[in-house]
Amino acid sequence: MTQLAPGGRIEVICGCMFSGKTEELIRRLNHVKIARQRLRAFTPRNDTRYRPGNLVSHNGVCIEAHPISSIREIVDYVEEDIQVVAVDELHFLDDEPETACTICQELADRGIRVIVAGLDQDFRALPFPAMMQLMAVAEQVDKLYAICVHCGAYATRSQRLINEQPAPYDAPTIAVGGQELYEARCRTCYQHPRNW
Ligand SMILES: [Zn+2]
Repeated sequence: MTQLAPGGRIEVICGCMFSGKTEELIRRLNHVKIARQRLRAFTPRNDTRYRPGNLVSHNGVCIEAHPISSIREIVDYVEEDIQVVAVDELHFLDDEPETACTICQELADRGIRVIVAGLDQDFRALPFPAMMQLMAVAEQVDKLYAICVHCGAYATRSQRLINEQPAPYDAPTIAVGGQELYEARCRTCYQHPRNW
């Protein structure tokens, strides 16, 4: 039987838009920094909504992060002595869903604490396959909530609006830097693209 390095684990931070996933990731990574553990953090290169590169919290904590397009790229950055690997907005990466899962599993088997954050559902309220697979194999899954902008209930869905209307079902799953807007909505207030 292959002996796995102790201490490895996968943590998934998921939820809808505006649920505070990146804030929670930064909170954990700040503890990693304080504990002086060796960390590598990554953000998708195509996420142009914010500054590419570093992860910066609302209260000014800054974590250095490398921009990547594919989860495969992180392997080159993870040297022997790295203890923690973090990937923000994992759903943005252009990989086959199995690739993200396989690579995160390999890192965890090496004894690395792997923390990923990302949307659990797309704007159609369908699961992002890579996130779904990671949740199944993770040691810890935290699902965060936003507040529904319509009724104030806990929101679990991301409604994409184009010209103030729910985006059609066949709109691209990933749309960065477009003219659309997102709203966090609860199950009741969410308008399914198939139903309008
Ligand atoms: Zn609502």
